[in-house]
Amino acid sequence: MKKSKIKATSEELYNELYFYKIAFENSNQILTNEVLEKHFLKPVILNKAIKKLHNEFLSFNAGVIGIALKDKETLVQKFFIGIEKDAIYVACNCGMPSQELCEHTFYGLGRFIKGHNGDFKPYYWPGIEIDNHGLCKYLDIKISWHEISIHPKKELGRLFITSRGFDEIDRILFDEKGSQISIKKNGYEKLIGYHFIYNANQGERAHFPFLLPFIGVANNTDDILSYETYLMHDDRSIGDISLTNDQILLNDICHKMQNLASSTRGDRLCCLKDKLSQSQMVEILGLWQQAIPLIKKQPYVKASYSFDMRSLAEKPGKKDAEDFKIDNGTLSISFFLKEHEDFFSLEPIIHVYEKDITESFWKFPFFIVDPLRPSYYHFHLVDNIQDDTILEWFTLGGNKLTVLKQDFEEFNNKFLIKIREHYVVYYLPLKSRKRSLLKNQVFL
Ligand SMILES: [Zn+2]
Repeated sequence: MKKSKIKATSEELYNELYFYKIAFENSNQILTNEVLEKHFLKPVILNKAIKKLHNEFLSFNAGVIGIALKDKETLVQKFFIGIEKDAIYVACNCGMPSQELCEHTFYGLGRFIKGHNGDFKPYYWPGIEIDNHGLCKYLDIKISWHEISIHPKKELGRLFITSRGFDEIDRILFDEKGSQISIKKNGYEKLIGYHFIYNANQGERAHFPFLLPFIGVANNTDDILSYETYLMHDDRSIGDISLTNDQILLNDICHKMQNLASSTRGDRLCCLKDKLSQSQMVEILGLWQQAIPLIKKQPYVKASYSFDMRSLAEKPGKKDAEDFKIDNGTLSISFFLKEHEDFFSLEPIIHVYEKDITESFWKFPFFIVDPLRPSYYHFHLVDNIQDDTILEWFTLGGNKLTVLKQDFEEFNNKFLIKIREHYVVYYLPLKSRKRSLLKNQVFL
């Protein structure tokens, strides 16, 4: 495979060299060790002399990377890498006599993978002419021993290249329908925000948490200045505010949540017995799972404790509206079985990320709450209804259960065995100081 496969401009420069092709085998232009090793058929044991060498970037002439393999300051070998979309072409001054990858390039590419993650994207500029001296009309190319940095010339700003696109374009998240258009109202901006209404009441006043969209006004520094109204069912009168696709989706979720929350109003544990409510709970959980990633992208989100949804005001109360954090997929639940003189106790252990919040958490329907500061809470959505009901059940029972030793066998067979099927249980025997994983201990 001769140089003409690389670039027309490299014709004259690399005429004498044999170029060996290594396909990336991925679409990221990243060469991995696994792929590299497929091309080196000799046993992958390199002699000591080679292993002392390091790479130094030499040139980028005609867009072909030139690298020196050096032993301290002494040049040992030079090799070259041409980059295409799907493959690199490597050549070595040793000429690769048997037309196989030589140990210089194998070792040098290995060093490149180590130092640069095998990433050839920064050196791929299709259609941009780089001359035989490494100069280019559009690019600033700087070579130092440890890197070749290539950037569009400053006056060009970002440079779009077919099949390469813009650098870092992936970091920009485009809303499909364009960003929210704010309406200035006497110098202030009208906004749509979302209010999280939660409750941990008992009995008649209990309801499930839900979100409601609201209309408000923001001041120049983007703080909510005042609230105008909640957007209740089917209320499409949002005047001049143009909704994003996310907001249309969220509003729909909000109204479904509100309907379900009002129809499931009442005792928090009714759902354990009532099959219909159980399916409604699954539905509410599903809505929250959809809502959380969307809510996290919204600029105006507040929360309030609700004492009874029958007395829901027309708009959020400014004094009651709190900032909060909300996440899902962050909870980890385990249990702690402890032996005492005459009885055993069982308690839930709650972690969010790596943080143990067993001593401080609150249980609200569907959420575990980490009270970070007064009036600033972190809500963690439960993963499933089983977790929610079990934790709810524990919370309503003072977060602990006790079983006398004489009753333990039946407790174990009827309850603990089920807990152990679903959760990790730690055990602390009497007079022991170290809790360990509960395996198949004989308890009595
Ligand atoms: Zn070689």
